[in-house]
Order: sequence, then C-alpha cells, then structure tokens
Amino acid sequence: VSPVPSDIEISRGQVPKPVDLLAKEIGLLADEIEVYGKAKAKVRLSLLERLKEQPDGKYVLVAGITPTPLGEGKSTVTIGLVQALTAHLQVNSFACLRQPSQGPTFGVKGGAAGGGYAQVIPMEEFNLHLTGDIHAITAANNLLAAAIDARILHESTQSDKALYNRLVPSVNGVRHFSSIQLARLRRLGINKSDPSTLTVEEITSFVRLDIDPATITWQRVLDTNDRFLRKITVGQANTEKGFIRQTQFDIAVASEIMAILALTDGLADMKDRLGKMVVASDKKGHPITAEDLGVTGALAVLMKDAIKPTLMQTLEGSPVFVHAGPFANIAHGNSSVLADKIALKLVGEGGFVVTEAGFGADIGMEKFFNIKCRVSGLRPNVVVLVATVRALKMHGGGPNVSAGAPLAKEYTDENLKLVADGCCNLQKQIQIAHHFGVPVVVALNVFKTDTKAETDLVCQIAKDSGASDAVPCYHWARGGKGSVELAKAVREASNQQNSFQFLYDLQLPIVEKIRTVAQKVYGAEDIELSPEAQSKIDRYTKQGFGMLPICMAKTHLSLSHQPEKKGVPTGFILPIRDVRASIGAGFIYPLVGMMSTMPGLPTRPCFYDIDLDPETEQITGLF
Ligand code: ADP
Repeated sequence: VSPVPSDIEISRGQVPKPVDLLAKEIGLLADEIEVYGKAKAKVRLSLLERLKEQPDGKYVLVAGITPTPLGEGKSTVTIGLVQALTAHLQVNSFACLRQPSQGPTFGVKGGAAGGGYAQVIPMEEFNLHLTGDIHAITAANNLLAAAIDARILHESTQSDKALYNRLVPSVNGVRHFSSIQLARLRRLGINKSDPSTLTVEEITSFVRLDIDPATITWQRVLDTNDRFLRKITVGQANTEKGFIRQTQFDIAVASEIMAILALTDGLADMKDRLGKMVVASDKKGHPITAEDLGVTGALAVLMKDAIKPTLMQTLEGSPVFVHAGPFANIAHGNSSVLADKIALKLVGEGGFVVTEAGFGADIGMEKFFNIKCRVSGLRPNVVVLVATVRALKMHGGGPNVSAGAPLAKEYTDENLKLVADGCCNLQKQIQIAHHFGVPVVVALNVFKTDTKAETDLVCQIAKDSGASDAVPCYHWARGGKGSVELAKAVREASNQQNSFQFLYDLQLPIVEKIRTVAQKVYGAEDIELSPEAQSKIDRYTKQGFGMLPICMAKTHLSLSHQPEKKGVPTGFILPIRDVRASIGAGFIYPLVGMMSTMPGLPTRPCFYDIDLDPETEQITGLF
C-alpha cells in the first residue's frame, strides 16, 4: 500500500497464523512448545537433543554502520531478508532477534519489531512484556541484590553462634546442611557433613562471608529509563541500623543475568554461571559469589522458563525466535546462543538463520564474534552490513537532526558529495568484518527520498571496498519481495571461502585485549586507564579472571568514545574509566568515557504517543 501505513496499522492488518500451526510447519512436536496466548510459544530445549544429528543451516549475522538518529534499519533488514528467503525463494529460514527493553520502547527509540512491511507480529506483544523473560531477569537480579545487603546486616549484628543457629537450624534437635551449604564448606576446604563436628574456627569461616561493602559491584535493575536511579542511597530506615551505602540501578537488560541468558547452552550451564557471578570481595580480597550467598538455586528457579526461546512470526509467516536482549553499548548486544542453535537445527542443511547484532558493527558484531561465537562454537558464513543513504550523509558531515523538526534538505534532496564522504564509515565497518575473515554483503535500506544516483554510488563504493556484493533493499515498502536481491546475494556469499578468526587471543593480558579492540576496531591511537580501572584490572587478574574476553561499554554513536564524532575519527586516545567483571557471563567489562548503564528519558518520550482504547483494547502510538 502506498503511502506505507504506520507500523502498528500494518501489524494489526495481518492476522498471525496460530502459533501451534507455525510450530507444526517448522517441524516441532506438540509437546515441544508451551503456548502463550495465540501468537507466541516457548520452545523446549529438549528439541536440541532430538535434532542433534541434524546438520546446521547457514549462519548470517546482520550488523550495521555507526548508528545515527536517522535510523538504519537492522531489524527491518533481518526480517525482510528472512521473508524473502522463506516466502519468495522457498528456502527454510529463521530470524533470531533480541527482546526489546521497555526503556527505549517508552523512551527515545520506540519498539524494535522492525517496521513497514518487514515486522514481527503482533508487534505490541513483541514490544511489551512478551513472555516475561525481562521481568524474570529483574526478579532474579534484585533477589541477589537484596541477599547481599541483608547478609551484611545480619553478619554485623549477630554473633557467630547466633548466625550458625539461624543458617543451620535445629529440627527436632538435629541440624542438617543444605546441599548449597555443603558445597560452601567444600570450597572452604572443610570436608565435614555433620554440623555437630565443626570447630569454633570452622563455624566462624562458614557463617561469615565478611563482604567488604565498598567492593560491591552488583546493582539493582529496572526495565525503565529512570535517570534518577543512577545514584541512590539504600538502607536509610532505622531498621537497617545505619548500614547506609550509595549504589545505583542499571537498566535490566544490562544485568549480568541477561548476558548469561544470552550465552548459556542449557539449564545446567545457566545454573553454574548464575552461581559463579561475583558480586563483591571479602575483606581479604577474595571474590564473593552468588553461590556463597546461597541463592543460586532460587535464581535458577526464577529463570527456568526464561531460558526457553519464544517463537513468533513475521508479517509473511516466517518463523522468528525472540530471546534475550542485552544492549550492545553497555552489554554484549546479541540474542541468545540457544535460539540460534535451535534455529540452525530446525532450518537444516541448505537453510538460513539470520541473527542480528545491536548497533554498529564495531560494537555488536565485534562482540558477536569475540564473545558469542567463542562461547557457542558457531561460525558465521556471511555478515550483512546495513547502511542508509541518510545516515551516510550524516557521517559525511550532514547537519544534526533535532527531534520533532523537519529533516534538513541535505537528507531529502540528492547530495552525492555528502554520500561519498560518509561512505568512509561503511568502508571502515567492512574492514572490521574482514578482520574476522567473513564475507560481507552490504544491504542498503532504501528510503523514499533516496535517488538512484545515491544508491548506485553507495553500492559501487561498497563493492570497491571489498564487499562481496551490495544491493538496495525495499523490504520496508514492499515486504519480502523487496529483499529478494539481497537474499540472492547472501545465498551466493554464503558459498564463498570463509577464513574466520578471533581478533585477540584470550591468553593476552586484559590491558592488551582492550588495546587490541581500541586500535584495530575503533581506530584509536591508544588507550588511557584511570587509576580505578587499573586497580580493578590488577584485582581481577590476581583473582584469576584475566583470561576472559572483553565486552566494551562504549557509546554506539561514534567509532570513538565521543558521540558527536561521526565518520571515521582518528588520533584519539580511548579513556577507560572503570572496569567491571561479569564472571558468570564470562567477560571483563571496561567502561569507556562517560557511558551510563541507566538511560534517561528525554523531554518528549515515546510514551506521549502511546495510548489504549478501553472499548476495543487496541493500542496506538507504538512504533
Ligand atoms: P535498527 O534495528 O537499526 O535500530 P529498525 O529496523 O528497528 O532499526 O528501524 C528503525 C525505524 O526506522 C523503524 O521504525 C522502521 O519502521 C524505520 N525504517 C526502517 N527502514 C525504513 C525505510 N526504508 N523507510 C522508512 N522507515 C524505515
């Protein structure tokens, strides 16, 4: 339809097929799905065991140029490509997407179900609570946060004996250790299972975690852009007896538990990773874990359904997994390993799984390769790099856009100079993908104001810069049939020689790994560590965590740490303000520049436009 209606009108105009029918079409057995409503179902992990002999399909990663406020369209390209492959080339294929956070949905960006005729439907279910996974993460994260402060209070106000009596209560005159307590005793080197045999010294070391409050790194989380929670004081009620400390909230999708959900390969591994999460150090400098706090089992219970990917569909009925949603700037930015693995088995040989990495290729794709692929063992066949003419114009020196104002004429009229100048960013992102040895196809997401001369120019420069192919895509206005050329180019590139390699060796010291990413990917001259960052690196190295990969928390709006620097900035020194460790997820997490882990709301947030009609229960204003 022209003009293209709003995203929510298009979404509502298509009745999704019943999810059990979709499940049957893609080869799932009736007892392998758990249906939520009419259009969503969780998929049981037992499927992986049933299909273990099935060969995997081809694995395609969608990444992008450095984002601008003008929007690039990675989700629409992902969905359009899968629609083209499934419905127009009759190739089995699957899209794997992240679950959107409600922070951006009600804040600046809006939803993430794609747009135009390339969407996941029903888009309101996709963009809002889905099947509750983010709520489960929030609950688990905050249970652990509560456990830390409560433990410090109880240890400080009770004698060893009183603590022992409460932690190992006597039932009918007999005390028993729980399995978690037995595991803690073993970690302490106390090989006893009868509580009556512990010496006084052993009781002391058993009951006292001796957490140093100044070293607590575990924050509370909420799935809302609430800037006033960036710094808070807890424990101010009299009942907390003066145990006041400053802490902060992060957005829920930045929680280590979200990263674990995205990286785990099953329940046993998830439980193990949850238990290993380091939340603080004790007063002697030893790490304190969730397991030490006795909360691992409870966290696993809260997460037991979230671990199953959610099956949905595109507007054209192709299958989609929605699972996990870590942000790419403050976390690792990729959907789950489990969803990709299941989808690769379901499409089988000759099929395609298209998965999306958040923000620009310098962030989402780098972490996809160095973190996600390292953990999963999966290797991508093709990278699809998404660009738009208007975003390239901004990289070429086009004016800033202000919210609500009409677009400057540079973006609506032909301007080949700005396009040519901005292609430096596209070239750089192609080079980054080539560092990893994977063929690149550039998907130019066409807007209605783009001219043929502009789209031809971008495709030519992309091919001259080493892309295997570069094609204009019209999925937003035309659905899957607008992306058939892209689908053919991806199919072609997937048969090319692929010499995948990681960017750095895990054995390198933490500082060298950070420097490698800064120089080879961002183009920095060097890095500069704050004293805080240096002392954390020393502490983590001493604690034995030096061999983990690196997950940079950096602005997505520039290759550098300065969001206003477009194109390809050079000659900058990347400042590392602080370093955190996500031991359960399995990465070291440097904070670059002023990157915040809790976004804020703008003056006019998206929620102004979101409404509900009580008569029809229809939602308006989501996009
Ligand atoms: P990303 O995944 O890169 O953040 P999305 O695919 O979510 O981007 O698209 C961002 C927004 O831009 C969506 O609202 C989408 O409808 C819109 N959009 C994407 N491509 C086009 C296009 N070709 N023409 C008009 N609007 C588009």
